[in-house]
Amino acid sequence: MLVVMHTDASEDQIRRVCDTIQEMGYTARPMPGKQRTTVGLVGNDGRVDGSRLEALPGVQEIIHVSKPYKQVSREWRSEPTLIRLPGGIVIGGEEVVIMAGPCSVESERQIITAAQQVRDAGAVVLRAGAFKPRSSPYSFQGLGVEGLRLLARARAETGLLIVTEAMDPEGADLVAEVADLIQIGARNMQNYSLLKKVGRLPKPVLLKRGLSATIQELLLSAEYILAEGNPNVVLCERGVRGFDSATRNLFDLSAIPVVKAASHLPIVADPSHGTGHRDMVIPMARAAVAAGADGLLVEVHPNPDRALSDGAQSLYPDQFSRLMRETRIIAEAIGRRLAQPAVVQA
Ligand code: PEP
Ligand code: MN
Repeated sequence: MLVVMHTDASEDQIRRVCDTIQEMGYTARPMPGKQRTTVGLVGNDGRVDGSRLEALPGVQEIIHVSKPYKQVSREWRSEPTLIRLPGGIVIGGEEVVIMAGPCSVESERQIITAAQQVRDAGAVVLRAGAFKPRSSPYSFQGLGVEGLRLLARARAETGLLIVTEAMDPEGADLVAEVADLIQIGARNMQNYSLLKKVGRLPKPVLLKRGLSATIQELLLSAEYILAEGNPNVVLCERGVRGFDSATRNLFDLSAIPVVKAASHLPIVADPSHGTGHRDMVIPMARAAVAAGADGLLVEVHPNPDRALSDGAQSLYPDQFSRLMRETRIIAEAIGRRLAQPAVVQA
């Protein structure tokens, strides 16, 4: 439920609404807007009688959010949420943020080379997993804590920001020490204890769509993170399981405008896992930017033929340079631009 205040409501009146919501046993989330403040009532509000709040001074109206997800909905907040990363990088605004790098951190040489290559081509965030959720227990599982150390090194060398995956609540604190954006992988989209954990961490979260998740389920998973108090969630379309083996997954481009209409959260696209084949990545990256994606997550490897994971979908560095050139043109054609490298603080 949302309590919409009058444009000239006083601080005292807003405080009284918040106090009343707390007295009723719920959490109050005041949200100052450009025109007016709204106060969200957080909790299971199915049977809340709004008349007590409606009668308070300064209250203009009560809105019952009709969707099962509340805080992530456009009804809750009409303006887009901007996710602010260090160095002035913003996801969800006019700029399209390109995140690129190998599937996994494999060695110091591999990750530093990859970071330099994607930075030179214009990426602003380095992606790479230190903890890897693999379909087979016998596949490379990532370097773990050592991988995090190497990512911190790559950031120091290149100035790139870092997005990397947390696989479980126990490891999430360690990941949060290094990551500028904590990735929750597709297989963990409905790992509710992990979602609650990252909801309590002071870092933005990149939440990937589950392999067979509906868009509503994706938004409900994001709701878990917001409900714990972390408003900084970036959604990611990475393809869902289809029936056609021509691609690894069915890259759901239409999810981008659907999410934009339903939610104020930004959404980025991962055309690498979305297609599974490097030759399909550039066309789908162009299409995702054209469809309104706020960023791209792309796998690039210095030597894809020797990659320890996802080599077949990893771009060669020169292909990534082409992806950057072509998506820049698409972004400009729709009145956006690619994000420029972060300003590194001395
Ligand atoms: C990844 O980004 O390398 C990854 C494991 O992605 P997903 O969770 O989408 O499969
Ligand atoms: Mn991968």
